[in-house]
Amino acid sequence: MSVSTEKHIAVLGAGPAGLMAAWELVEAGFKVTIIERDDHVGGMCATQTFSGKHGEYRFDFGGHRFITKNPKLLEFVDELMGEDLLYAQRKSVIRYRGRIYQYPLAMVDLIKNAPLPLLVGGAIDLGKQLFKPKPQDQSTVSFAEWIESRFGTTLYKHFFEGYTGKLWGIDPGFLSGDWASQRISLMDLKDVARRLLPGRRSSVRTYARQYRYPKLGFGQLYTRLAEVLETKGVEIVLNSDVCGLTVTHDNKIEAVEYEYEGAVTSLFCDEVISTLPLSLMCKLTGFDSGLEFRSLRFMNMPMETDNISDNTWQYLSDPEILGTRLQEPKRRSAHMAPEGRSSVMIEIPCDKDDDIWSMEGDRLQQRVFSDLESLGVDPKLATGEYFTSYTEHAYPLMDMTYQTKREKAITHLSQFGNLIMTGRQGTFRYIFTDTAMEMGMMAAQSVIDGHDRRREIFDFRNEKTVIEVQSVA
Ligand SMILES: Cc1cc2nc3c(=O)[nH]c(=O)nc-3n(C[C@H](O)[C@H](O)[C@H](O)COP(=O)(O)OP(=O)(O)OC[C@H]3O[C@@H](n4cnc5c(N)ncnc54)[C@H](O)[C@@H]3O)c2cc1C
Repeated sequence: MSVSTEKHIAVLGAGPAGLMAAWELVEAGFKVTIIERDDHVGGMCATQTFSGKHGEYRFDFGGHRFITKNPKLLEFVDELMGEDLLYAQRKSVIRYRGRIYQYPLAMVDLIKNAPLPLLVGGAIDLGKQLFKPKPQDQSTVSFAEWIESRFGTTLYKHFFEGYTGKLWGIDPGFLSGDWASQRISLMDLKDVARRLLPGRRSSVRTYARQYRYPKLGFGQLYTRLAEVLETKGVEIVLNSDVCGLTVTHDNKIEAVEYEYEGAVTSLFCDEVISTLPLSLMCKLTGFDSGLEFRSLRFMNMPMETDNISDNTWQYLSDPEILGTRLQEPKRRSAHMAPEGRSSVMIEIPCDKDDDIWSMEGDRLQQRVFSDLESLGVDPKLATGEYFTSYTEHAYPLMDMTYQTKREKAITHLSQFGNLIMTGRQGTFRYIFTDTAMEMGMMAAQSVIDGHDRRREIFDFRNEKTVIEVQSVA
C-alpha cells in the first residue's frame, strides 16, 4: 500500500452531509475518499429513474424540497445547479375520514369542510387553552401530552393521533415531545386561531410555501455535486459497505474496513468523518446503543393520466390507510414524468423486515390500489407498472428513552479522538437536508482548523420551536 504524505480523510456515506464535508476538505487541500454502500450518491436525497412503457419517470425516496435560512448555502446550491434549480410552490392537504382539509388550516375551508363536532370541540378546547399552563420541558413529556396541551383533545384525535401512530409504529404516548416541538409548524391552538383570522399571520413560525427543486429530481443536486468533487480529486467508492474499524491502543481509528464485491478492503486514513447511523458506528466499535430507526417503503407507480391533483403532498391521517403520504412527483418538476403522463408515490412506514417491508410487490400494489380507491383516485388510471424502494433509516425513533441512549452513544464515540459524527443519521437528529449539509461542513471545518466541534455538531440547530422556516429562496 502506498503511503501518502498529505492528510487523508475518510468520509463515510455519500449523502448531503458526506458530500459537503468532502467539498470543504478538498477545497482546503486534503485528500478525501468517500465510501458509500449504495450504487449511487445522495443518500435519502437521491432520485431513482424508472423506464416505463410511456417513457422515463423519476422518483425521490419520498419527495424532497430544498429550503434553508442560510443564504450562503442557497447561493452555493444555486451556483452549482444554475438553470436546473426550479422554483416550486407547495400545496398540501390533509385527508381524514373522507374529508379534505387545506394544510395549513384556513378558516373558510375549515368551516366548509369540518364536521360540526370537530368545530364545536375545537372551540371549547380553545376556550380552555386560554387558561391552561403548558408543559415547557418537552424532554419529559410525551408527544401525546405535548400536542393535547397545545391543541386540545379534539384536534389531537382528528389530526395527530392516527397519523402519528401509523408513522412511528408506536403509541404517541410513548413518543418524545421533542419530535412535536421540532416538527409541528404551529405553536398551539391560540396560534391556530390567530392564523385562521383573515390577514393574520402566526408570529411564531412561518410556513414555507415556495421552495427550490432540481429539474430532474432532488437527487440531481447531489449527482452534480459528486461530479464536481470527482473533478477536484475526491475518490467516491460506491457499492462499499463499511463493516469494521481498526482502532489503535490509544483509541485512534487507523483504518476503515469496507466490503466491496465480497472482499474486505482497509482504507488507512488520518481522520474519519462519519455520516453513518449513530447506532451502526456504536456497533462497529463494540457498543450496543439501543437506538432504533423507523423505515419507509415506497410504492412508485406510473399513471396513464397527466394529472392526479394539484397537491404536492396529501397527508393520509386515517389509520386504516397503509401510507402516510400520497405524492405526485410532477407537482415538483414537470420533468418527473413523460409529457402527458403522471405518477404517484405512496410513503408507507414500516420496520425493516416486518410484514410490509417484506410483502411481495404485487400484493402491496393491490393493497395500495384499494387505498387509492377509498381516497377517490381511480386505480384504473395506473399503467400497471410499479417498483418499490426502501429507506431503512428514514426516521430516528424518538421515543421516551432516546435522549438517554443518544447521550450514551455520543459519550462512547467521543473516546475516538479522530472520529467526527455528523449528518442526520450520524447525530440521530430529525433534520432537513440543508442542516445536514451545514453539519457536514462543520465537521470538515473541525478537521481543517483542528478545533473540536463535535458537541456543537450534535446540538446544531436544535431550536425547540423553529424548524420550518420561510425559505430564503
Ligand atoms: C420521507 C422523507 C422526506 C424528506 N423530505 C425532506 C425535504 O423535503 N426537505 C429536506 O430538506 N429534507 C427532507 N428529508 C430529510 C433528508 O432526507 C435528510 O436530512 C438528509 O438526507 C440527511 O443527509 P445525510 O447525509 O445526513 O444522511 P443520508 O442522506 O441518510 O446519507 C447517509 C449515507 O450513508 C450511507 N451509508 C449508511 N450505512 C453505510 C455503510 N455501512 N457503509 C457505507 N455507507 C453507508 C447511506 O447509504 C447514505 O448514502 C426527508 C427525509 C425523509 C425520510
